Amino acid sequence: MDSTDHKNNNGQSRREFLRRLSMGVGAAVTLPAFGPSMSMFEARKYYEMWRDMDELPESEKLGIALVGLGNYSTGQLGPALRETKLCRLSGVVTGTPAKEPKWADEYGIPESNIYNYETFDRIADNPDIDIIYIVLPNGMHAEYSIRAAEAGKHVISEKPMATSVADAQAMVDACRKADRKLSIGYRLNFEPHNEEVMRLGQKEVFGPVQQMEGGFSFDITRTPDVWRLDKELAGGGPLMDVGIYVVQASLYTTGELPLSVDARIVTENHEVFDEVEETIYWEMEFPGGATLNAESSYSEGAHYFRAEASDGAFSLGPAFGYGGIQGKSSKGQMDYPQVNQQTLQMDAFADCIFNDRKSRVPGEMGIRDMKILMAIYESAETGRRIQFDW
Ligand code: NAD
Repeated sequence: MDSTDHKNNNGQSRREFLRRLSMGVGAAVTLPAFGPSMSMFEARKYYEMWRDMDELPESEKLGIALVGLGNYSTGQLGPALRETKLCRLSGVVTGTPAKEPKWADEYGIPESNIYNYETFDRIADNPDIDIIYIVLPNGMHAEYSIRAAEAGKHVISEKPMATSVADAQAMVDACRKADRKLSIGYRLNFEPHNEEVMRLGQKEVFGPVQQMEGGFSFDITRTPDVWRLDKELAGGGPLMDVGIYVVQASLYTTGELPLSVDARIVTENHEVFDEVEETIYWEMEFPGGATLNAESSYSEGAHYFRAEASDGAFSLGPAFGYGGIQGKSSKGQMDYPQVNQQTLQMDAFADCIFNDRKSRVPGEMGIRDMKILMAIYESAETGRRIQFDW
């Protein structure tokens, strides 16, 4: 039985009820399907559809359990789940017992919905949890996503999806085998300024995009973060952590998969960066003739994305944060609200589950990006241009 059928209370399956409810606002929640070349976005921005959507009663919302109560869960996902309309925080998994009372109090989570890494698999027996959201160090995403699927739950994995293409593929395979949906925590796909960049680029509003530049960097030495500097847990350095957003931006601006990449790593502080790169630069070429010049570093701050097309240009800066994103184009400043990206991202996934649709940011998109990240590293390590074989 599907986990969304568990709370059947009036002779009609909860899923059917919700499907009809959702169809009532169907136009408002329809999202494009992901295809092998990028999907086109809807003319209406996702936040507008979300704004017009009805909120479900608490008892009908899908329950999400956060796995790993670190900075992102505490600072972003927990608060975002106070605003979601289709899902709610119903459980947590933590290896730190001291965190339990705070989460239980703040979010009204019953003790029966609090797990640790030893009891994790018992979530299978908990109908209050429909979705397991993996917010652990990158190297742990695959194991816990696969166990979540095997427990019969839908899965969201944080980015980067995994630390190898093989692990990412195993996650997709496990979810497919368990008939569960898999989504990646690509919040910016639901952010209006970034959606506008998709529209301007893919619809060629200023003609075909010719050149792109992007950077996402921060100074990690200010807040020494052990796992992010550990190759096994992180999979790599700033490229895996934040450079991935620049990769994504170039793909959703062009709507294309890259043809080739050239990359170079520069590490000066070998004491801190003895396992992962300090700074990485890469260039990619796209089939339509566009190029990307990109950088990502753990020793300085950067937060920008610019695209030049034949008849105009557009840019974001700051481009990739949780808030404060600004954009402009040859036609002027972009005038879009700041939204809670994580709220929109999680409700979009809940909607996909209710309506049996694929996530807008599915596991396959995560595999695609893992292939690109690995090719960037391969180019940096070999000094050769890597051609993609899609
Ligand atoms: P964090 O270090 O703050 O939290 C990691 C959590 O994992 C902690 O609660 C820690 O106790 C737990 N953990 C369990 N086993 C561990 C182990 N062996 N080593 C270290 N920690 C262990 O990290 P974070 O910033 O919350 O990042 C977690 C994940 O979320 C990462 O994959 C990261 O890329 C992703 N993330 C995504 C965004 C986004 O905008 N989508 C933002 C921040 C982080």
